[in-house]
Order: sequence, then structure tokens, then C-alpha cells
Amino acid sequence: MTQATAHKWVYLFEEGNAQMRDLLGGKGAGLAEMTRVGLPVPPGFTITTEACVEYYRRGRQFPEGLWEQVLAALRTVEAKTGKRFGDPNNPLLVSVRSGAKFSMPGMMDTVLNLGLNDEVLTGLIRLTGNPRFAYDAYRRFIQMFGRIVLGIDARKFDEVFEAKKRERGVEKDTDLTADDLADVVLKFKELVRQETGRDFPQDPYEQLRLAIQAVFESWNNPRAIAYREFYKIPHDLGTAVNVQTMVFGNMGEDSGSGVAFTRNPATGEKELYGEYLPNAQGEDVVAGIRTPLKIAELKERFPEIYRQLEEIARRLELHYKDVQDIEFTVERGRLYMLQTRAAQRTAQAAVKIAVDLALEGIISREEAIQRVKPAQVEELLKPRFDPEAKAAAAAEGRLLARGVNASPGAAVGQAVFDADTAAAWGQAGKDVILVRTETNPDDVHGMIAARGVLTARGGATSHAAVVARGLGKPAVVGCEALVIDERSRSFTVNGVVVKEGDYISIDGTTGEVFLGSIPTVEQSFAEQTELRTLLEWADGFRRLGVWANADYPRDAAKAVEFGAEGIGLTRTEHMFFETERLPFVHEMILYAREATALERELQRARAAFESAEPARKAEAEAEYRKVEERYRQSEAVRRYYGALAELEKFQVEDFKGLFRVMGHRPVVIRLLDPPLHEFLPRYEDLLVEVTEMRARGVRDEGLAEKERLLELVESMREFNPMLGLRGCRLGILFPAIYEMQVRAIFRAVCDLKAEGLDPHPEIMIPLVGHINELAVVREQLERVARQVMAEKGQQVSYKFGTMIEVPRAALTADQIARYAEFFSFGTNDLTQMVFGMSRDDAEAKFLFYYVEQGILPANPFQTLDADGVGRLMEMGFKLGRETRPDLEVGICGEHGGDPESIFLCHRIGLNYVSASPYRIPVARLAAAQAALAEATAAAAQRYA
Ligand code: PEP
Ligand code: MG
Repeated sequence: MTQATAHKWVYLFEEGNAQMRDLLGGKGAGLAEMTRVGLPVPPGFTITTEACVEYYRRGRQFPEGLWEQVLAALRTVEAKTGKRFGDPNNPLLVSVRSGAKFSMPGMMDTVLNLGLNDEVLTGLIRLTGNPRFAYDAYRRFIQMFGRIVLGIDARKFDEVFEAKKRERGVEKDTDLTADDLADVVLKFKELVRQETGRDFPQDPYEQLRLAIQAVFESWNNPRAIAYREFYKIPHDLGTAVNVQTMVFGNMGEDSGSGVAFTRNPATGEKELYGEYLPNAQGEDVVAGIRTPLKIAELKERFPEIYRQLEEIARRLELHYKDVQDIEFTVERGRLYMLQTRAAQRTAQAAVKIAVDLALEGIISREEAIQRVKPAQVEELLKPRFDPEAKAAAAAEGRLLARGVNASPGAAVGQAVFDADTAAAWGQAGKDVILVRTETNPDDVHGMIAARGVLTARGGATSHAAVVARGLGKPAVVGCEALVIDERSRSFTVNGVVVKEGDYISIDGTTGEVFLGSIPTVEQSFAEQTELRTLLEWADGFRRLGVWANADYPRDAAKAVEFGAEGIGLTRTEHMFFETERLPFVHEMILYAREATALERELQRARAAFESAEPARKAEAEAEYRKVEERYRQSEAVRRYYGALAELEKFQVEDFKGLFRVMGHRPVVIRLLDPPLHEFLPRYEDLLVEVTEMRARGVRDEGLAEKERLLELVESMREFNPMLGLRGCRLGILFPAIYEMQVRAIFRAVCDLKAEGLDPHPEIMIPLVGHINELAVVREQLERVARQVMAEKGQQVSYKFGTMIEVPRAALTADQIARYAEFFSFGTNDLTQMVFGMSRDDAEAKFLFYYVEQGILPANPFQTLDADGVGRLMEMGFKLGRETRPDLEVGICGEHGGDPESIFLCHRIGLNYVSASPYRIPVARLAAAQAALAEATAAAAQRYA
């Protein structure tokens, strides 16, 4: 290769910019960008990631031209600094650092103070007049170079160093004198000779070449490989190498090193936050040898440095338009920047920073909305440990350990050590935390029953972490301090023994594990001013409406507080479960069949009588009167309609409660959906009871009643209740139940209208699969609606619609829309039926294994399966709108609160998503982000 065509392997900092991460690595691109905008960055250059890849491709040889380009770049750096590499009269020392495209903290290698040798050392002493500093720099260099480049065991250097401290009777490194350190240097050099069979390399150019090679090699050290495996970073990216002029924070009291955030990363407060260690190199800050100053103290102790830092922080934020995490060094009063990157931050800080940056005019409102992750909003509203109680627990020494914060939230419960116990205790109503060394698919039923999960091994993508997140349960994993003994059902951590049944508290947001129970507190939405501001901005951009799933006035009120614009699903069955109503519900179920059969017989007899020929009229009338008499005398009829009348009274009040909270906002009320046996005692339990009563020789009315119930429950058993007698099928078989519910809705609305309110009910029929089902039910219920309105002398504006949760309904949505003014996708059932898997069975048995193995990308009950269920929704949406252009379409399955699913709903074009009250804020944000992402994509296309 000739010079003219030589590939460019080396970039001076001033030749790069922030966009060049692929080529220069994250650190190199950051240094280049800071240099480009004129921040004080010590001069240097970056060897590209391509050079590293080429190094391996050539069998661990430097690429052609690389070394020449390094030398040329070094000449430029010399010119800039006025110093010379290897010149004892004015030496240039450099650092050699790794830096891949993706941050791999601490995984690869770095060498500092390179360029020192015996001769340069004397020059450095002369120049600085500080022999202690010079010897310290040299011994650090030999130590680092020896370990990283020459592969000498670090402990051997430590032994020499510690022996010196012992000999001198000092504790701190800083207590060693220049003479002590000079002796350490001699001993280190001797160690190198012993270990490598040759002298420590004195030629700075040889040092540099070896160090660059060592950084290339560190890309493939076992730690780095394992890290990339874990975070799924490709192995063929290579690392860049940054060679940069050393600046020294350890040149006296007017020097130092620090790390800082341009704003508080915990609270988002606008203040410099971090630590500064006077007279120290950067590694000392990290190593925690001396206690650093808080940045706030810097303001008093070194006001001039603080002023420079503040100025730079301001410029960095303006430039990057975000909060930065920086590393800096002060050399004799002058501040130098060594690194900057976007700061990690808590959920609370993320929201405050986004809103503040927008209010300061640094970013737009659109950008602020896009800066916050929906999961962070969710985190801000989850119950958390009472901060005071948590601090007290820590002060009492109850903080047992820390692990990986794998799934956020606070959980308290009794420790159990196997999944079966967890399931059994959970079913008995106890709160448990499942504690395992690690989990596997056999543990899932225990995880479902537990409040939270704690494991001793595994990281953020371990089975325990994946499943816990999938279930939305708090989890702390990889808590390695825990020694679990399954046989004795206990774990030990730092001498504390926790036995089965002992209470523990785990914080999945921070990874902390506490002994005993810590009370949790709800987080107030009203007090989160910045979050509310952000969501108000979001409302201005979203196209999707955000409604709530709420069954009770208190849930509805919470939903409205969180910003819900309507109720998208009221599951009326929940109202049936309340203790005072359950007896009536039992009566209703017990007599539904018999009473309905008689009712039908009566209708047939009446019709026969009415249409009879004159010759047969008398006979038909007699028959009709007979049936009518039987009907009138029927105990079943009396009790069935009696129970319905009682339930109707309750329902009128239920609905009034909801309408009062929701005002003029739409309220979608779904008529009874689940199979009726869900309201009755379990067959197995009843059987045991009856058998026991019989065995005890009980022969009374109680037994007879139980036996009747047992017979009924047995007659109602189904092979697949999910696909059995439920939803609109109930309404068709037992019309009086739906009629009762609709009567209650219209009575409630008419009464409230009379009070001057303006409720908007929408009546929703579940589980429709065929147009005729809807046609029949609608006809019958509209009649009831008209009756009530006539009775009350009121006109109510209402809608009549259906859930789309059976695949056939989506496939024939054009027909269904003839009888429906609205659709609501019930994606819980739709997902079950499209996949042909029942959620409970799938999650307990195989679903998470599928997710872990990558057979499914995610739990489809949590995130909509775009390719299957999503496609069916899109089809149902389009077909429905073809028939009825103003068809209102929403979603009320659990996916309505899942950000990724909300993006899909936005794309399809739904009118609204409906989610549980606590997910309303998340949904508002995600809906706005979906709209903004679409706008960005559209703009990109326009200008492409
Ligand atoms: C659904 O199936 O998505 C739905 C909302 O109904 P449920 O969860 O009550 O079956
Ligand atoms: Mg359903």
C-alpha cells in the first residue's frame, strides 16, 4: 500500500465529532466533540475501531500504516502542547485508553503516565520541583504497565507496596515520602525483571506500541467477552484506542480530580452534583482511598475551580441539550475535561430534567415528552417503601444485601424457599417472597403466587428477572451475598439467618433486601408537579383518547384524577361478587334454567293462543291459562325474578355512582361476561363438604340445600369454561339477566338526567362471534331501553356496541358493525383465542420458557402480538369502518396500558385505549410519543 492510498486509522480529536461513535468509540467521539466546540480537552488522538478489527483479521498484527499515522499524530500533539515525547527536558506523557462503541465499564484496559523512563523521571523532578509527585507517577506507570501490558499478577505489585507501607509504619499511600517511592520504583523494576526476564522497557515508543497492542487485546479478554454476551453487544465491533496528553491532578493543592453531574441525577435539581478529590489522580477518586469533597464544598474551598466547572457544565448542557456526567482534572488551577456522556438518572430526575430543560428553552416540549420512558412514569406511581421507615430499617442494620434491581416495585412477605410452598401459602392468603438460588420453568407457579422474587444468582436477563418483569412483580436477582440452604429452608447473609416464614422486604427498584417488613406508601400524583406538566404537554400531541377500565366509583375517581377521558370498560360481574349480593346471585343462578324454560313455554302458549284459528281458540286459551297458572305458582319463577329485582336495585346505585363521577364523559358498561359457575363455590370443595356431612350422619335442611347446590354446580361444569357458556351466550340463554342490567342502566341515567346531569352510557355486549348473536341481543335490549325511557319520560343519548374478542368477530366486522355503534377490542380473550392458549395455563406452564428461548419475542398477554393479533385488529378496524365510517373503536384488554401496544393502536387508528387507572399516565405519555414518532417519520419521508 502506498502512502497516497493508505487507509485512515488515526483521527486527531479535532478531526472527529459526536456522530462518529462507530469509528471512534463512545469515548473518542465524546472527546472529539468537546474539542470541536472548544472545551478544554488535553490534546490527543483516537485509533479507530476498524484498526482493532483489522489487527485481529491480520492475525494480531498492526494494520499497514497504523504506526506511521500514530507517529504523525503524536508530532501534532507535541506541537500543540509544546512538549516532546521522551524528552527529559520537557516530557510529554500520555494515557492510552480503550473505548468501544458501547460503554463496557471497567471491562477493558487503560495505561496512564506512559512515556516515563529513568531519564524522563529526572527531567520531571527538575521541571516540577516535586520529586514525590514524579516518583509516584513512575511507580503507578510501572505498576499499570506491568499488569496490563506485561501480564504480571497485580498482587505481586501490591505486596511490594504494602510491605513498604508496613516497613514505614504508615497506613495511607500519601504518607509515603519521595524516598520511599523511589525505593518502590526500584523494587517494581526488579519485579518486572524477575517476571519477564528483561528490563522494564525504557523506550517510550516501544511502551506506546505495546500499550496500544494491549488495549486491542483487552477487547477479547474473558471479562469483556462475557460482558458482551450478556448485553448482546456484537463481538466484531472492536475497540478504539485513545491516546491523550496526561494532565495531573496530583501536582499539589491547586490540582485535583473529580466526577460530576451537571444536575442532580437523583432528584433532577439544577445543581452541580458530584465529588472532587484535591491533589489526586482520577483513579484515586474511584478507588475511594481518601474521602472526596462534595462539589458543593468545592464552591467554598476552591471558588475559581468551581466557577470554571459551572461554566463548562452550562456549555455542555447547551451543546448536548441534556444533563451530562463528566470526568475532569484540575492541573495547577486549570480545568481539563476528560469525558462527558449523557447522565444516568432516576425516574424522578428524568421527568424533572425533561420539563426543566423545556422550560429553560434548551429543548422543545416534543423532545421533553420523548425523553421520558413510559416505564419511568409507571415507576413514579407504584407504591414504594416509606422512605423514613426504609432509612430507619437501614440504620437498625436491617439492610441485608444488595442485588440486581431486575423488576421495579416494593414487595413485603414471608420468605419461602420452594415454588410449591409459595403457591400453597399464597393460596392461603399469605404474602410470600419466593427465595431461590436461581429459578427455572418449574418455579413459575410459585412466582405467580408470590409478591416478589429474590435470587442469589443470575443477572438482569436471568429466568427470574424475565419472568418477574413479565408478571409485573418486584424482583431482586443475583444477590450473591445470600447463601441459601434449601434443606433447612433458610438463607444466611453476613451472619444473619432468615428462616422460612420470616418477613423480608425487597426493593426491585434499587436492588435492596431488608429483614422484616417495611411499610409501603402510595405515591401522590397531585404532588408530582413536573409529571403533571409533562402529561399536560403530552395531551396536546396525542391523537388517541385515554380511557379507563374501572368498576367502582373510587376507581373511576382515581382514573379521572390521572386524566382519563372516559370509562372504556366496566366489568359488571365484579359488582356481583360483593358479599351482600352474592346470595341473590346464587338464587339467580340456581333458578335461571327452570324459570327461563317456563317463561319460554308461557310465551309459546300465548303465541299459540293469539294465532289460533277460531275453531281452536278456546282450546288454545285453556292451554295458555294452564301454563300461566303454573308460571304464577312457580317457586323458581318467584325466586329468579325476585333475585333479579334485588340485583337491579343494587345495579341502579352502582351505575349512578359511576355516572356521577364521570359526568358527561362516556361510560362503557359491559353486560355480564363470565361463566356463571365462577359465582358459585368450587365443585371439589362442595363435594368434600357434602361427603363429610353425610359421613357425620347429618340429615337436615342444610344438607339438602348443599346437595342441591352440588347438583347444580355439577350440571354447570364445563370442559373449557373459557370457550363455554359465557358472554352474550348467557344473555341469549337467560335474557332476563341482560334485561335487568340494561333496565338498571337506563333507570340510573334517567334519574340523573332528572337531577340535571348528563351521563353518556355505552352498552357493550361481550364475546360476540356471529352477527346474529348481536342482532338478537340488541333487539331485545333496545326494547327494554325504550320502555324505561317512556316510563321515565326521558330521552337518553346512548350507544350500543360490542367487544371484538372472538377472532370470528374481527373477520366479519363489516357485518357486525351493522348492529354496533362501537367496537372495543378485548385483546385478553382475543390473544387467547388467536394463539389457542389459555393465559393461566400458558403462563404457569410454558409461556415464559418460550420467551426465554426466543420462540416468542415477548409475553403476548402483556404486549400485543403485532403480526397476529395486531393484524386481526387492523382488519376488524377497517372492515368495521367500511360499514360504519363513524364507528368508535377502542381497546380494553390489558394491552391498553402497555406502551408498545399503544404504539400499535395509534398506528391502526383507534379512537382510544382503555387501561387500568394506574396506567392512565403511562398511556397518556405513550400515546403522545406514538404521535410524535409518526410525525418524525412522516417528516423524514417528506425530506428524503
Ligand atoms: C378482554 O378479553 O380483553 C377483556 C377486556 O375482557 P376480560 O378480560 O374481562 O375477559
Ligand atoms: Mg374478554
